[in-house]
Amino acid sequence: MAAREAESRAAGTAVVGGGIVGASVARALARRGEPVTILEAERPGHGSASSKGDARIRVLAAYPDDEYLRLGLAADDLWRELERESGRRILHPTGAISYGSLAERLAGALAEHGVEHELMTPGRAAELAPAVRLPDHVDQVLWQPDGATIAAEAGLAAMLGAASTRGVRLSTGRMVERVGQDDGRVILRLPDRELEFGRAVVVAGAWTASLLGWDELRGLEPTAQTVSYFRYEGTPPPALIDYDGAEPYSGWTPGFGLKSADHEFGPVIEPGRLPDPDPARVEATAAWVAERLGVTEAPAISETCVYTNTPDERILIERKGAITAVSACNGQGFQLAPAVGEMVAEQVLAD
Ligand SMILES: Cc1cc2nc3c(=O)[nH]c(=O)nc-3n(C[C@H](O)[C@H](O)[C@H](O)COP(=O)(O)OP(=O)(O)OC[C@H]3O[C@@H](n4cnc5c(N)ncnc54)[C@H](O)[C@@H]3O)c2cc1C
Repeated sequence: MAAREAESRAAGTAVVGGGIVGASVARALARRGEPVTILEAERPGHGSASSKGDARIRVLAAYPDDEYLRLGLAADDLWRELERESGRRILHPTGAISYGSLAERLAGALAEHGVEHELMTPGRAAELAPAVRLPDHVDQVLWQPDGATIAAEAGLAAMLGAASTRGVRLSTGRMVERVGQDDGRVILRLPDRELEFGRAVVVAGAWTASLLGWDELRGLEPTAQTVSYFRYEGTPPPALIDYDGAEPYSGWTPGFGLKSADHEFGPVIEPGRLPDPDPARVEATAAWVAERLGVTEAPAISETCVYTNTPDERILIERKGAITAVSACNGQGFQLAPAVGEMVAEQVLAD
C-alpha cells in the first residue's frame, strides 16, 4: 500500500479540480483562513475541461430564478473585485439582447430585483446595436446593459492568482483516483501515494460523478457542445441570445471576433472523451450568425466543449461527512463561479 502522506495538510481542505469553480471555492475558503490544496489532474483550463477557452457571456440572470439572480449579482461584485486585485481586465462590457419566451419572464425577475434592463421594440434595439438583425416574428426584445464577455483565461488565471496570494497550493498533474473517508478524515488516493486532509471539496466538473460514485450524483450528465468562432472586425456587438428552439447565442471574443453555439444540450458523453464538433451544428450556427449578425464567412474554428448538467439545472451541492461534491455548470457556471465559491465555502466551514 502507498504511504499515507499526512504532513501539515491533514488539517486543511483538498479541492479536487482546478477549473473556475474549484479555483473560486479554494479562494473563498482561503479568504476565511482555511489552508487549501488544489489537486488538478492536468492543468487548469486544459482542452477537455469546461473552463477552457477565452470567452464566456455574462448576463445578470440567465434564468428567471431567484438563486441564479442572487448569485449573478454577487458574482458581479466579486469579478470586479478580482479585476482590481489582479490588475487584469476580465469583464468586457457589450450589453446583451435576448428574445423569445424566456426573455419576457426574465424581465419580470429583473424588475423584482431592481436590475437595470429594458423591454424594447426591435426598432429601438436596431438603433442601439445596428449590427444585430432580429427575426421578423420578434416584436419585443430584452436589453440588459450589464451584458459582458468574461475573458475566461484571464479570469481563471486571476482567480488562481488570488487563491495563491492567500496561501492556496496548486498541485497540477495530480490525478485523484479515489476519495474516501476514514474515521472522520478524508483520504485521497493518487497513483503513487495517499494524502490525508480534514475535508475535501470535489469540483471535478464532468468527472465528479464517476470519481465519487455517489447515487446522489447519478443524474449529472456531461454533454458535448459544438462551438464555433468567427472572425469579426469593428465594434463588438452585444451578446445575442435566442431563448427558443435550439437556443442559439453569440458573444464577443476579445481579440478574435465572435463565439457562437446552441445552448440546447448535445449528446451525453464520457468525461474527457470529447467527440469532434457536430457538422450539422456548425452549419446551423454559421447560418444563424449570417442571418443575425451578417457574418457570412465560415467559422475560423469549431470545437467541442463539455457542459455538465444537473437534472433540474440548479447548482448541486451534496455533502457526505467531510466530503462535499459541487456541480455548478449547466452551461452558466463561469459567470456565477466566484459567488458559488463563497456559498460553498460558507457551507463547508459551517461546522
Ligand atoms: C461551449 C460552452 C460555452 C459556455 N458558455 C458559458 C457562458 O457563456 N457563460 C457561463 O457563465 N458559462 C458558460 N459555460 C459554462 C462554464 O464554462 C462551466 O460551467 C465552467 O467552466 C465549469 O467549471 P468547472 O470548474 O466546474 O469544471 P472544469 O473546468 O471542467 O474543471 C474541473 C477540473 O477537475 C479536474 N479533474 C477531474 N477529475 C479529476 C481528478 N480525478 N483528480 C484531479 N483533478 C480532476 C479536471 O482536469 C478539470 O480541470 C460554457 C461551457 C461550455 C462548454
